[in-house]
Amino acid sequence: MRRVIIAGNWKMNKNISESIDLANAIKRSLYNVEEVEIVVCPPFTSLSDVNEIVLESNIKLGAQDVYWEKEGAFTGEVSSPMLKNVGCEYCIVGHSERRQFFGETNETVNKKAKALLKEGIMPIVCVGEKLEDRKANKTFDVIKDHVTNSLAGLTKEDMRKVVIAYEPVWAIGTGVNATKEQAQEAHKYIRALLKDMFDGTVAESARIQYGGSVKPDNIKELISQEDVDGALVGGASLKADPFVQIVRGCL
Ligand code: PEP
Repeated sequence: MRRVIIAGNWKMNKNISESIDLANAIKRSLYNVEEVEIVVCPPFTSLSDVNEIVLESNIKLGAQDVYWEKEGAFTGEVSSPMLKNVGCEYCIVGHSERRQFFGETNETVNKKAKALLKEGIMPIVCVGEKLEDRKANKTFDVIKDHVTNSLAGLTKEDMRKVVIAYEPVWAIGTGVNATKEQAQEAHKYIRALLKDMFDGTVAESARIQYGGSVKPDNIKELISQEDVDGALVGGASLKADPFVQIVRGCL
């Protein structure tokens, strides 16, 4: 049985006091939810304060990015030991916004995932096609490229700690979510790739989140799909109410 995982990606939103308010509101509303794994990913500047709130609660802390070196002259970067030290159990890597605006590639995603795993932090590895890829019937090619190269060299043991987020770029922040059929088709394909790369056990146990305009009114149909094991939520994670409803929609 794969445990459903709902993660909120706050992106570059929320100052420290806003982050504290949001984390407190989520914690208050979801304190009794054990069936779903709940993760919040605030910006770096709020990690420490949000950690104080979620510490010893059912809410886990995640970061939105990491650099693969441990320490040194890498101005502006944050390492996996630093994330561990501030309380992160998860970290998003390869988000499409990082691929689009910051030159993230499968190769850098791979290095980041390995650095996180060394520290015992679970990477949430984002993959997914752009609209032009889908229109050109290249959806599966892009997914295969992202999955095989981002996870290259990981062991079966590593894969127990990896979460994959299928995020079609055309669905992110657009209000247009993938249909449940489109999501299921992509997730099933990702699971088949994992079987080829690793084995059937890894494929069956790997959690694959869907991301892209997830809202309280579409979570139920998405999560009902056999291979959809959760959601990575952007816009709807910025207020407690919709995020809480999304989590509750998975119960
Ligand atoms: C995201 O940024 O990961 C995301 C899925 O955003 P949204 O939910 O706003 O589409």
